[in-house]
Amino acid sequence: MIFMNIHEYQAKEILRQHGIPVPPGEVATTPAEAERSARRLGGTVVVKAQVHAGGRGKAGGVQLASAPEQARAHAAKILGMRIKGLEVQKVLITPAEEIASESYVGVVVDRASQRPVFMVSREGGIDIEEVAARSPQAIRKLAVDTRYGLLPYQAFWLAATLYDDAAQQRACSKILLQLYRAFVESGASLAEINPLITTPAGEVKAIDAKINVDDNELFRRPDIAALRDSSAEPPAETAAREAGLTYIKLDGNIGAVVNGAGLAMATMDLIKYYGGEPANFLDIGGSSNPDKVVNALTIITSDPNVRTILFNIFGGITRCDDVANGIVEATRRIQMRVPLVIRLTGTNERQAVEILEQAGFSASTSMDEVVQRAVELASRA
Ligand code: GDP
Ligand code: MN
Repeated sequence: MIFMNIHEYQAKEILRQHGIPVPPGEVATTPAEAERSARRLGGTVVVKAQVHAGGRGKAGGVQLASAPEQARAHAAKILGMRIKGLEVQKVLITPAEEIASESYVGVVVDRASQRPVFMVSREGGIDIEEVAARSPQAIRKLAVDTRYGLLPYQAFWLAATLYDDAAQQRACSKILLQLYRAFVESGASLAEINPLITTPAGEVKAIDAKINVDDNELFRRPDIAALRDSSAEPPAETAAREAGLTYIKLDGNIGAVVNGAGLAMATMDLIKYYGGEPANFLDIGGSSNPDKVVNALTIITSDPNVRTILFNIFGGITRCDDVANGIVEATRRIQMRVPLVIRLTGTNERQAVEILEQAGFSASTSMDEVVQRAVELASRA
């Protein structure tokens, strides 16, 4: 992963710390706890699945409960439910708000402008991607100059596109300024409130929140890093992180084990060039440690889509014969159910090919040859 997901209740706590009006809430991991929380909060509550996925409402993961017993029943249904493949292990119990309108406000690091970009829309409550596809004119955008941050007049300009009422415009511009601080101070790549609601009494409040934290910001923010919930992350990504590998799962069927991010990109390009689809981005880094190879193979083969695995190793400081020994050792330790194709080039490549051939593998020093072979094997399987 290149960013860390946190839960709604954690994102709300960050927003709260920055002064944004957010209803209170309690986290429950059992139906009985959910009932107790609902009783403490009083009145109608919402039981909300805490998973790293959007669209929980549509999936049945957000339910109103008018009595504590009903909160218990909803929690019993929602806990254990799967939303976008992720199992719900926690629910948030929060007082139900009366909603007069739902808007979207968000700030995201934008590649094109290389700045944080605010996006706001009156069409809140639904996925912003959906709004962007259907009615892009309904989203107003503003790029922030990070030397100055979001300026008050800019916040007001954005707020004025969302609300006609002056008091709500003021409340919203304050929230946008606070959201920008929350975004910067938590090292986020995205911070969004969807929906930002108005109540019939005219208050403006955040009832859902999402923050993604840039991985590279975590080392200097131990308090934010501590928010990581590994049990809620895809197991392969947790395993990769713990093994010190850079791994991103993709949708194709050719697994690739590569050393160096540049070579990993070039390998993915070449797989595509020859008509294949990569199953992952994976960089094992500079070491030839068999443990790393075992970890990489275990992680890649845990993806049921993988039909073949391609090794592409450049031996600079890393010696190819070391990597070859690592591969032989690793494949002794784990049962391989898919074919391996191996390309090594650089320091001691001849010895490496020999080691691999003696162990019954086919290896080559040509990248084109091996990628074509991998594409062929994957399409055949
Ligand atoms: P998401 O589907 O994962 O984005 O979850 P949300 O927290 O955004 O909830 C989805 C929808 O449920 C919202 O857009 C609201 O329409 C509704 N909802 C959530 N909380 C409340 C609440 O307190 N009161 C009411 N009436 N509806 C709510
Ligand atoms: Mn939402």
